[in-house]
Amino acid sequence: MGKDNVFFLEVIEWFDETGRELVHRIPEKGSGEIKFGAQLVVRESQAGVLFYKGKAGDAFGPGRHTLTTANIPVLTKILAMPWGTTSPLRAEVYLANMKVFPNLKWGTREPVAFKDSELGLVRLRAHGVFNIQVVQPVLFINSLVGTMGKYTTQEIEEYLKRVIVSRFNDHLGENLDSLFNLPGRYDELSEGLQRRLQDDYSRFGLSLKHLYITSITPPPEVQRAIDDKSRLGVIRDLDRLVKMKAAMAMEKASETTGGAGTGLGMGLGFMMPAMFAETFRPRGRTGGGASAAPQKITCPDCKNPIPKDAKFCPHCGHQQLVFDQCVNCGKNLPPNAKFCPKCGHPADEKPVPKICPNCKAENLPGSAFCNQCGEKLG
Ligand SMILES: [Zn+2]
Ligand SMILES: [Zn+2]
Ligand SMILES: [Zn+2]
Repeated sequence: MGKDNVFFLEVIEWFDETGRELVHRIPEKGSGEIKFGAQLVVRESQAGVLFYKGKAGDAFGPGRHTLTTANIPVLTKILAMPWGTTSPLRAEVYLANMKVFPNLKWGTREPVAFKDSELGLVRLRAHGVFNIQVVQPVLFINSLVGTMGKYTTQEIEEYLKRVIVSRFNDHLGENLDSLFNLPGRYDELSEGLQRRLQDDYSRFGLSLKHLYITSITPPPEVQRAIDDKSRLGVIRDLDRLVKMKAAMAMEKASETTGGAGTGLGMGLGFMMPAMFAETFRPRGRTGGGASAAPQKITCPDCKNPIPKDAKFCPHCGHQQLVFDQCVNCGKNLPPNAKFCPKCGHPADEKPVPKICPNCKAENLPGSAFCNQCGEKLG
């Protein structure tokens, strides 16, 4: 967007008619000139986050806020924001939707590589559902918008799904030796994957409420062979294994021709029973979601009651509003930190992708197995 694309903002508000937007930027494109004394209207289950010079600096809870220097001390003190009554402030506002987003779907776009102890390299597709909620709006905006450069709900969702697929690949690589042992293990694998991802997502200021794997689908030849084998019971049929391996070699050969089409619907033998669908139906009426939030909350550290919108605990100083976290150790960083107070790591470093030494594919930071070739990453 060019320099001319400037919006003068006097009243800043957003109502999400679709009910599906995680976050909304105001102005949607270009930059905003926020008038001194502008009104910021934050609705129930929203948080308003001021974004200035590539960083989110403060959060506003539900209500109508008059934006002046006096009521945003964090911005003025930490970011040394120049804001006079005559000149507007060039900044953006992000409004984050703090409700639970139920029933989001994740899935592999390209099949991921799994090294099976009996079958060799198998390319798997997987699908599932998950629920998320923004719990730390400033950290959410800083990590995904500021650091990762994802501006829209769509871009953010795409990235979050990529994280799930990558960790799914890691989790399977570490917890399953062979697809023969997959049936009956969906619950356990889903739970393990959810635990693993909770950690990842908390670094984005998100809470992962639920996650399920609904299907894991190998190529049809392998699927058929596994079905046959399970019919045969525990007896190892070596002849079939040999055939299966031949089939997989064919699958590998056909990879370059890029035959997609094996999506959902395949591999019925591996489908989970439909009961999980119940778990995902939102409780109570649909569409509501604006539950009466308690006015008082307690500090997770010292357990004393603190005001709902406190940024730090007035009793023990524990940080309630998280601005940034150390990419190395995950410690909450104070707003103006240059280095992590715990491990000394530079505070503004971006997480680096992991390049596979075997196939040179780029994997997400912290990946344990290459999505492309199944190689264990150091
Ligand atoms: Zn406290
Ligand atoms: Zn650290
Ligand atoms: Zn690789």
